[in-house]
Amino acid sequence: MMAPFLPLEILNSLPGLESARYVDPYAGSKGNSIRFNLITLCEANLRVIGVENLFCAGEKIGLAVGHTEAIVSGSLAGYNAVRYAREKELFVLPEELSVGDYIKYIIEMVQKKENRSKKFTFSGSIYFERMKEKNLYTTDHRKIRDRVAKLGLLDIFKRE
Ligand SMILES: Cc1cc2nc3c(=O)[nH]c(=O)nc-3n(C[C@H](O)[C@H](O)[C@H](O)COP(=O)(O)OP(=O)(O)OC[C@H]3O[C@@H](n4cnc5c(N)ncnc54)[C@H](O)[C@@H]3O)c2cc1C
Repeated sequence: MMAPFLPLEILNSLPGLESARYVDPYAGSKGNSIRFNLITLCEANLRVIGVENLFCAGEKIGLAVGHTEAIVSGSLAGYNAVRYAREKELFVLPEELSVGDYIKYIIEMVQKKENRSKKFTFSGSIYFERMKEKNLYTTDHRKIRDRVAKLGLLDIFKRE
């Protein structure tokens, strides 16, 4: 599916990764990555439907594939897990932000079984097209910061 592209000698030159090695592909080339085998239906706040104190993120909420996608959804799920434990109202990222629209879109799409094998990522495919159509795509940090500020959400994850 995907193979490491970073030459091993460069990887090994990084502190802490001197002895790292690739074990890819696994299983005599028959399989190198067992993923995408379970989707857990969630609410937009990433609480698992039907389990009051369980929150979900990444490739389990629908195929939210990628590191950014894991960070975006994992931050929200973790934040809401803490809010739940403190008996506070759960937070939903607004759809005016690409991160909020992304999560909302996946949650809606995976309601239908036929969408559960689709991959959603900021870096291409279905969601990248939607992000452009909705005028959410930009690489301008100041513009993104302004959007977040207008919604009153600067430093939201630092708040109690
Ligand atoms: C070879 C390869 C290259 C990639 N390259 C890129 C890239 O360049 N850029 C990019 O953005 N994305 C890349 N990806 C995708 C990205 O790595 C994943 O989408 C992302 O790591 C998924 O994060 P996750 O938290 O959803 O799942 P994972 O990172 O898979 O985390 C799930 C964790 O749950 C643990 N777990 C599973 N079952 C249990 C259990 N029963 N009990 C307890 N723990 C359990 C697993 O051990 C694992 O640590 C790549 C993926 C692969 C395989």
